[in-house]
Amino acid sequence: MKVRVDPELCTACMLCTDTVPEVFEMGDDVAEVKTPNVPAEFEDAVREVAGECVADAIFVE
Ligand code: SF4
Repeated sequence: MKVRVDPELCTACMLCTDTVPEVFEMGDDVAEVKTPNVPAEFEDAVREVAGECVADAIFVE
């Protein structure tokens, strides 16, 4: 599973970075993905936070 954050949409609310810090981190202005290829143990958490992102800025595939 792959994940990315659209920097044009992210509002830097820090939900994803607080919830799954193993995968997301804050960059200068927006959240960034540390590991585009999500480790299996974090897939469920990434899917969940992608659904909760108020900006719909997290894309999984
Ligand atoms: S949850 Fe969404 S809006 Fe909030 S920091 Fe993460 S990607 Fe950005």
